[in-house]
Amino acid sequence: MKPIKITLFILLLSFSLFAQKQPLLHLKYEQNYTPTYSEVIEMYQLLDKNYANATLLEKGLTDCGKPLHLFVINSEPEFSPEKIRQHGKTILLINNGIHAGEPEGIDASLEFADDILRNNGGMAKILENTVIIIIPVYNIGGVLNRSAYNRSGQTTPYETGFRGNYANLDLNRDFTKCDSENARSFSQIFAEWNPDIFLDTHTTNGSDHQYSITLIPPSFALYPPVMEKFIRNNLIPDLFSEMKKGKYELIPYVNYIFDDPRKGIAAEHEGPRYSSGFSSMFHSIGMITENQIYRDYADRVKSCYQFIQVLAEFTASNSEPIKKSRADGIKESMLMNQYPVAFELDTTKFRMIEFKGYEAVKDQISPVTGLARFGYDVSKPYTDKVKYFDEFKKTEYVTVPEFYFLPQNYREIIEKLDLLKISYSRLKKDTLFEVTVDYIDDFSSPAKPYNGHYYHDKVTTHSEKQRIEFYAGDLVIPVRQEKIKYLLEMFEPKASDSFFRWNFFDNILDQREYFSSYGFEANALKYLDEQPAFKSKFQEKQKTDPEFARNHRALLAYIYNNTEWLEKTWKRYPVGKIYR
Ligand SMILES: [Zn+2]
Repeated sequence: MKPIKITLFILLLSFSLFAQKQPLLHLKYEQNYTPTYSEVIEMYQLLDKNYANATLLEKGLTDCGKPLHLFVINSEPEFSPEKIRQHGKTILLINNGIHAGEPEGIDASLEFADDILRNNGGMAKILENTVIIIIPVYNIGGVLNRSAYNRSGQTTPYETGFRGNYANLDLNRDFTKCDSENARSFSQIFAEWNPDIFLDTHTTNGSDHQYSITLIPPSFALYPPVMEKFIRNNLIPDLFSEMKKGKYELIPYVNYIFDDPRKGIAAEHEGPRYSSGFSSMFHSIGMITENQIYRDYADRVKSCYQFIQVLAEFTASNSEPIKKSRADGIKESMLMNQYPVAFELDTTKFRMIEFKGYEAVKDQISPVTGLARFGYDVSKPYTDKVKYFDEFKKTEYVTVPEFYFLPQNYREIIEKLDLLKISYSRLKKDTLFEVTVDYIDDFSSPAKPYNGHYYHDKVTTHSEKQRIEFYAGDLVIPVRQEKIKYLLEMFEPKASDSFFRWNFFDNILDQREYFSSYGFEANALKYLDEQPAFKSKFQEKQKTDPEFARNHRALLAYIYNNTEWLEKTWKRYPVGKIYR
């Protein structure tokens, strides 16, 4: 029996070695099928079981109660981010299915993980100095809400998930306000792993053209100069030229600013509420792929795969320059004195890029309504040079403070600081500080909520120096720390996705005290008697403004609004600042 057993063992061993070189996963994107949530997780579990150098982790929860998974691929069975960093490895994070009806990245990441683990075509070389971490599905609630009717502009795959999550939030607007459990778990992953490069995969129906995949590159204006230079001169040219060598060419996301893409395309500026903008706050180079829905699903998945491969190869072959660029960028940011908070597309600056489009037709007859509509004639492809606008002007700056003082009652904010491992201390005793505070002079808010909030736009402020008592337990946050950009983006009320903008400070916007036309009189009289200088100013105004002088309420209001009677805390943004 013994010899047979050994032969059988050798046979099984050789079979299993051989088996691991074959793909373990069988994706069905060629049949316009994208896996369900449980199929996705089962596939990663299979890879985890078969490869010691990969693992599937659970990292916190999502709104629907299911855990957020993270699949880690290393060259060895080492999955501690601290140890991986100590080994000098770069980290590439790929996020999929944030909009669950946009599943190319879900399929492509599975196939990529399978291939790199079995070292298909020598791909495992990437893992020598780079660790790839994949969020298989971010919007789990959305993926579970699967239907053939979730994506009106998409004919394939036949069934997909839904854009909103279990809480009906658009998760790609939720990164800074961080309402969802998904975003809280993501924040923890980001703080723990501190990825050097970050990719979020999407699908677009913006326009029809010959490309299967488009890219929203990292927005230059969101990075310190040294990183901006690296992104412009190294990352972007490399990604585009490497993609051109493969089957699927890459084009910037076709955001056309006139009535036809042929007349010009503009870059997208995605601020911190979006995944790529969020990553920029941590000096992580973040970008978004947008697959084009009018191409075949298989081509969309394969082009997304090709991009992931190109990006992983770039990360591996530029490991040292990437780390240096980030380290230098952080130093630059920590020394900043002025910080940009508003951006505008510079329509005077453009470069010409090659674009393979289809003729736009303004009076194409709709097969549904029989009426003329705008469309593309796919029988008329063209290759042309088009204007590409990708420069943003920085139109407003704020001065960088040294410290923020945050009252302890803002517990939701403090929770976010903790998730992101922001350094701060708490006052040990009640202390009077001379700080600069901003008053919110004006803002506009929509009549209907946007992603669960009444986002404040057009914020104007003025500053005052005041002596304010902060209490034991209030937060003192040093601004010049590694995460300086996060602090400025979140605590400067004018920054586009600040806590103020997303309603975390709405409590300061209405008055708590006021005056009665009868009740205020005794105090008003006493005040005029005690403050002769103010009294003469008041009398002067009565003399020069007869209409004012005839209005009892206006007279009392003048006294109330121009003296200590008016509460100082009304519209006073409660974060105190100390400047150098
Ligand atoms: Zn999307």
